[in-house]
Amino acid sequence: MSSSGFNPWEAVLTQLRTAAEAIKLDGNILKILEKPDKVLITYFPVIMDDGHLEIFEGYRVQHSHHRGPCKGGIRYAPDLSLDEVKALAALMTWKTAVVNIPFGGAKGGVVCDPWKLSAGELKRMTRRFTYSLINMIGPESDIPAPDVNTNPEVMSWILDTYSMITGHTELGVVTGKPVEIGGSIGRTEATGRGLFYVMEEALRQRGRSTKGIRVAVQGFGNVGSYFCRFAHQAGFKVVAVTDAFGGVFSPNGLDIPKLIEYSSKHPKRSVEGFPDADTMTNEEIFGLDVDVIAPCAMGDAINKGNADSVKAPLIVEGANGPTTPEADAILSEKGTTVVPDILANAGGVTVSYFEWVQGLQHFFWSDQQVNQALRDILVKAFNEVNNKATEFNIRNLRIAALALAVGRVAKAIELRGIFP
Ligand code: GLU
Repeated sequence: MSSSGFNPWEAVLTQLRTAAEAIKLDGNILKILEKPDKVLITYFPVIMDDGHLEIFEGYRVQHSHHRGPCKGGIRYAPDLSLDEVKALAALMTWKTAVVNIPFGGAKGGVVCDPWKLSAGELKRMTRRFTYSLINMIGPESDIPAPDVNTNPEVMSWILDTYSMITGHTELGVVTGKPVEIGGSIGRTEATGRGLFYVMEEALRQRGRSTKGIRVAVQGFGNVGSYFCRFAHQAGFKVVAVTDAFGGVFSPNGLDIPKLIEYSSKHPKRSVEGFPDADTMTNEEIFGLDVDVIAPCAMGDAINKGNADSVKAPLIVEGANGPTTPEADAILSEKGTTVVPDILANAGGVTVSYFEWVQGLQHFFWSDQQVNQALRDILVKAFNEVNNKATEFNIRNLRIAALALAVGRVAKAIELRGIFP
């Protein structure tokens, strides 16, 4: 639960029940989906650089295995909670179902402040955490990937630890790996690129061209920075960017390549203090008079305290769970189109799927193949969500996306039946 009293797992259950009602979901299937399949809590030791021992707390939650192996990232964060990981695992179930790739949902993480750990400590912590997960993960059962504060380097340690223990190199056990050791071309950029494709499609369907479109972005990590780069390259004006430490605003559009360069040299990788721009706070960004807002940071960003101030007609959710159910209701009422996380940021897991397939086949794709297949999958999913909205006569795309996803998972459960 966050300091504001927001509980992400309760929020996910509220959304699930709303979708279940819309599609008249069988009560027994709802009972299954209201609980995760498996939850692992692990306390594991790591020797720190100065020789003292620390115990870390880690989680892995598998929400659903019904459509294929569980799939989802691993995050490192000081305020991580089990309820948050359960919520994120369920979101992965819906996300993989919306884009119709053959996976279930999972998520994991370690409670830690990665900025306070040395490279060696981070590596030892990752390896020991992987050891704790050894009976849970695997190319046919559960496949981790990067998430908040983890990256390709962390994935290569997971690959190596798993492979050392099993005695052979297992490319399919983790995605988001460096390309040199079986990663997919385009995986690092995939979430930001996918978010851009989805925004383009949403604008196209509203009859808007990209000309003069003004975008505000919260978060400048992997998702936000690549999203800004693709938007800038395509001629959009990214007028504001904020992150955990500060923000910048320029009415004529920020120079994104320069901002990326600047933040890469900032001690906290922040945009704070970028010259030739005004400052902007994380709260101000949601009230900006822009065409699109892309929340690409953490959960609970758009809540009942600021949803009323939103002027943008379109929100594309780069982060997982950035809008609380109360805020969702306010935005729906105002007529704001919200392209939900489970569709908008599904580009990452979609290219993870391509990476998993390439790893299992030991046969690798070009960047054109990856990007074309990514666009095709996202545009198709976007249209399927729109069709669901029409079918159920609902304007809220989150409920439509959930109706599509939950319906697909329910069908898989029904076809497989209940064991034994
Ligand atoms: N962590 C990313 C997400 O939330 C990617 C997951 C994956 O590639 O498995 O979608």
